[in-house]
Amino acid sequence: MEVKTRFAPSPTGALHIGGIRTALYEYLVAKKNQGTFSLRIEDSDRARLVEGSVEDIVQTLEWLGLDFEGEPVLQSKRVDIYKEHAKKLVEKGSAYEQDGAIYFKTKKTGKTSIVDLVGNRKIEFDNSTQDDFVILKSDGYPTYHLAHVVDDRLMETNPVIRGAEWISSIPKHLMLFEAFGWEVPRYAHLPIILGPDKSKLSKRHGAKPVSEFKKDGFLPEAILNYMALLGWTPPSGKEILSLGEMAEEFDLKGVNLANPVFDIAKLEWMNGEYIRRMSDEQLTEKLQEFLVDHPNKDKIAPSVPIIKDRIKKLADFIPLTDFLWESPEYDIAQFEKLNIKNKKEALEKILEQLRTMNKPWNTEIFEKTFRELAEEEGIKAGDMFQLIRVAVSGQLVTPPLFESIRILGEEEVVSRIEKAMGLW
Ligand code: GLU
Repeated sequence: MEVKTRFAPSPTGALHIGGIRTALYEYLVAKKNQGTFSLRIEDSDRARLVEGSVEDIVQTLEWLGLDFEGEPVLQSKRVDIYKEHAKKLVEKGSAYEQDGAIYFKTKKTGKTSIVDLVGNRKIEFDNSTQDDFVILKSDGYPTYHLAHVVDDRLMETNPVIRGAEWISSIPKHLMLFEAFGWEVPRYAHLPIILGPDKSKLSKRHGAKPVSEFKKDGFLPEAILNYMALLGWTPPSGKEILSLGEMAEEFDLKGVNLANPVFDIAKLEWMNGEYIRRMSDEQLTEKLQEFLVDHPNKDKIAPSVPIIKDRIKKLADFIPLTDFLWESPEYDIAQFEKLNIKNKKEALEKILEQLRTMNKPWNTEIFEKTFRELAEEEGIKAGDMFQLIRVAVSGQLVTPPLFESIRILGEEEVVSRIEKAMGLW
């Protein structure tokens, strides 16, 4: 039997990072089994529609590389299909009309059960717990229950992969399949993702729409890799996996029943790993794409090797390197943090050395000169280099000092130190 999965988000806002795990697992199951993965937009709840969400969902999946088959299936375009199916149930005596809505008549006796693919566990309900429920609303749109059963039958979805919040609706869905005389698909219900405080994942935990992660400079590969590991451990034990590697290893049976915890710090760490694995050329290109509007984006190449180990997200590049393109606005408070008594005098001595040092400067001579100067002046070498750092950058933290100086050039460095001296 061909494996067909579908991601079925409701367009009630931008696609959230937590939703990605469901889409990703559906994608992986399809790829692993040479099946198909499609997108269905569940827009039958007209009151909750948010304009622009369909575009956001489609663009986000494209950006992540979770390619779906064909065009998205929009439930709002299939209203006649649901009506026709609701009517069939009325004709069969399994449903009835009341107050303009159509209700499904539930069985009130016996039990309903499935064996869920996640954890291979039996989930069982007493049918007596199920009241009759609406399948077609008075506005003519289906409820999720009817639309799920009809669409997943017509789309031949198998397995149905969705969030565990739907487990309680299983008896409704099973009764509907039975009333239509259709075989029940296999189900996999994914444990709900929590935040570190064990409450349902939300913005408070740093979880946001994927488009915002993109703006912060997260890489799609890192997001997918991190989300894949939320509740699944690859048999190989690898921590860094490409989409192709995940598809080879993925199996719903390996999905953990415990609720996974989303940890933004771990996602940032993983993003940093992906950044470090790029060549300098690749990273330069990525940064240039990311910094489209940055006035100095064409000059960044020499700074890439010196920041590569220091950034976790592409956006971190900006505050770390601003001083390379623009003369700093000094804040005397930064200098006051340094453990040097007479800073102006120390800067004068530094200038004297710089003016007489052979050009082009090199690391060894630079280091030797300023270590010696520090000793003569009774200052610690570390404090001396920190003073130079603040004087050329205005900041206490920068990429490595000498490499930064090399990018700035001798003249610029001298002129910045002169400018810094003007503070006293
Ligand atoms: N629209 C439902 C949701 O967003 C889809 C559930 C399903 O995949 O069937 O939760």
